[in-house]
Amino acid sequence: MADPISRSLHERALRRIPGGVNSPVRAFRAVGGEPVYVSRAEGPYLWGADGTRYIDYVGSWGPMVLGHAHPAILRAITEAAAMGTSYGAPTEREVLFAEALCEAVPSMEKVRLCSSGTEACMSALRLARGFTGRDKVLKFEGCYHGHADFLLVKAGSGAATFGVPDSAGVPEAAARNTLTARFNDLDAVRAIFAAQGSEIAAVIVEPVVGNMGCVPPAPGFLEGLRALCTEHGALLVLDEVMTGFRLARGGAQAVFGVTPDLTTLGKIVGGGLPLAAFGGRAEIMDRLAPLGPVYQAGTLSGNPVATAAGLATLSLLTPDLYVTLERIGARLEAGLRDAARAAGATVTVQRVGAMWTVFFTDGPVRSWDDARGADTKAFARWHQGMLKRGVYLPPSQWEAAFHSVTHDDAVLDATLAAAAEAFGEARG
Ligand SMILES: *Cc1c(COP(=O)(O)O)cnc(C)c1O
Repeated sequence: MADPISRSLHERALRRIPGGVNSPVRAFRAVGGEPVYVSRAEGPYLWGADGTRYIDYVGSWGPMVLGHAHPAILRAITEAAAMGTSYGAPTEREVLFAEALCEAVPSMEKVRLCSSGTEACMSALRLARGFTGRDKVLKFEGCYHGHADFLLVKAGSGAATFGVPDSAGVPEAAARNTLTARFNDLDAVRAIFAAQGSEIAAVIVEPVVGNMGCVPPAPGFLEGLRALCTEHGALLVLDEVMTGFRLARGGAQAVFGVTPDLTTLGKIVGGGLPLAAFGGRAEIMDRLAPLGPVYQAGTLSGNPVATAAGLATLSLLTPDLYVTLERIGARLEAGLRDAARAAGATVTVQRVGAMWTVFFTDGPVRSWDDARGADTKAFARWHQGMLKRGVYLPPSQWEAAFHSVTHDDAVLDATLAAAAEAFGEARG
């Protein structure tokens, strides 16, 4: 239950903002109750409108891998803002940032900056279509690549949470060239390529899915997609908006050893400001305007304050940091599993690095078919039990939770103590 101040703010919000929120999953409808209005955040914590402190496992849906309000990032933002907040002209920082991104993710020889993951995915696929001269795009059920029309087909995240896999307002014509297959089902992809491989411009995939809850790729799945794309002249687009700089500095492609043609990045790269990017082989990227015929643009793209936050973030993402994130994740994973078992709750805990999900189901979750079989009512009870005890989790069974390097042992102790009690209530 949200505090009284949040509730009264939400009542006012409902009168002026559809659903009271500016992005659907914030609305808490999937878990019952009303959203907590946030007044500030620091390290692993959020404070609600009434001053209640919560341990945060949403992390702004991914960006806050260093914890909230990191002093070095705040300093970079303040210093940059004092020099002017937007010029609409090139800056040195964009060059430094592009160099840093390409160095971290070597499959990207060139990169273009934009302002949201939605734009990055939409633009990368326009480019793939322009480069190959083909129209069709293959995506996977339960994967979310932002809210561009042609990608709102069997999309995960909020689209799945609210049972609107195909949004109203998307013309049939916009979705006609979007093919879908089951995640981790390479045979299905092979069959699609056998039938229409010469028409497929690109395969886009979340290398580790976060938008139906955390679902890792089966061994050989990503490698198989790479081989099929190469064989049929299609581009492989790894959507690393969530996994980029979270699973490793080089993203999931570094962890799994798969080289995409194009990569999309967002969330962490902006250090909490609106910034995203897409990049890949120079031969492909040079098809973008002004060099080539594929148009893509943005008034605030490469914004000086956002690139300052991004550069400061990247400079702090050291190898040690990923060791810490893994250690925290391993402790959470084992602790949550033990707590559920002790409470007699049936769950499957899935985790890759610093992204994880407690699925209220007894089997492994390999695809959207498995994920949607989870007991969302039990999840809602667990979510409420955790919130009541000061732990703020994503308000949907089908969203990955994230920790930061600031989630220290005391924070984990408090989280696991809350979980032990909340699992008892979730059992129902
Ligand atoms: C969040 C997300 C997006 C969309 O990014 P926005 O910045 O919200 O537009 C795209 N792809 C993946 C994998 C994401 O997690």
